[in-house]
Amino acid sequence: MAGTALRGRLTWQVATVLAVSVETPSVRTIMLDVPDWPGHQAGQHVDIRLTDEDGYVAERSYSIASAPGEPVALTVERLDDGEVSPYLTDELRAGDELELRGPIGGYFVWEPADGGPLLLLAGGSGIVPLRSILRHRERTGSTVPVRLLYSSRALDDVIYRAELDKPAAGVEVFHTLTRHQPPGWSGYARRVDAALLADVMWPTSTMPLAYICGPTSFVEAVSQALVQSGYPPQRVKTERFGGTGGT
Ligand SMILES: Cc1cc2nc3c(=O)[nH]c(=O)nc-3n(C[C@H](O)[C@H](O)[C@H](O)COP(=O)(O)OP(=O)(O)OC[C@H]3O[C@@H](n4cnc5c(N)ncnc54)[C@H](O)[C@@H]3O)c2cc1C
Repeated sequence: MAGTALRGRLTWQVATVLAVSVETPSVRTIMLDVPDWPGHQAGQHVDIRLTDEDGYVAERSYSIASAPGEPVALTVERLDDGEVSPYLTDELRAGDELELRGPIGGYFVWEPADGGPLLLLAGGSGIVPLRSILRHRERTGSTVPVRLLYSSRALDDVIYRAELDKPAAGVEVFHTLTRHQPPGWSGYARRVDAALLADVMWPTSTMPLAYICGPTSFVEAVSQALVQSGYPPQRVKTERFGGTGGT
């Protein structure tokens, strides 16, 4: 049975785009109809495969933005010099088809039974799997306390802004805007450093569980700072999206 389920996940299948919605000027959420979807856990990802007319194939990974039980949604940030992301954000329309396999990943996942308190740290599109975790927590009625620290370049780059402005009970959201801050901005205005982490993190005595996701450089810097401030490495889970990012 387990073997069958695993083979299912590693098999490419065709998904149909149900809708594409605008999150920020450079970010789109793509809702998919995946006929043979086995279900997923919060924090997992899928692989997407694109093949052009000449048979050239490009594959990339994308985190699942929706909670378990919701239709599969991906949220993609356009990298202007990128090969795959500009197609997904600018060209894809409802009714188009995509090759996909998944869900993939068993490490960067959270279930209510894993407990907390949770410290979620996101840089840029690194918010995507953490959003799945937040929605999963809410949909399951979990009361695990959560603090989310989200680093973006500017307010216009904040993904899921409306949703994060109205967090569920027990969820605190902190923003840092690293490049541009609107007049009267009262949040943080610099890259995440040890002092900023010290402001928002749960005390180590509460045995918190941390999830860090974003550009590789963000994840490296933040996980190092967190471990230096006393978080046990085995309680710090990381997901690197690649690139050197500016968040
Ligand atoms: C497990 C996993 C989950 C991911 N989930 C998401 C997601 O939910 N949403 C999302 O938008 N992306 C996500 N990514 C990143 C995604 O897989 C692609 O790397 C990204 O879309 C760029 O692909 P591209 O073909 O457009 O750019 P490429 O042609 O591959 O790269 C273009 C340039 O951008 C640099 N670059 C590549 N990736 C990044 C990055 N993440 N940040 C900054 N610079 C980069 C490259 O070094 C290169 O210089 C995830 C990656 C992994 C490994």
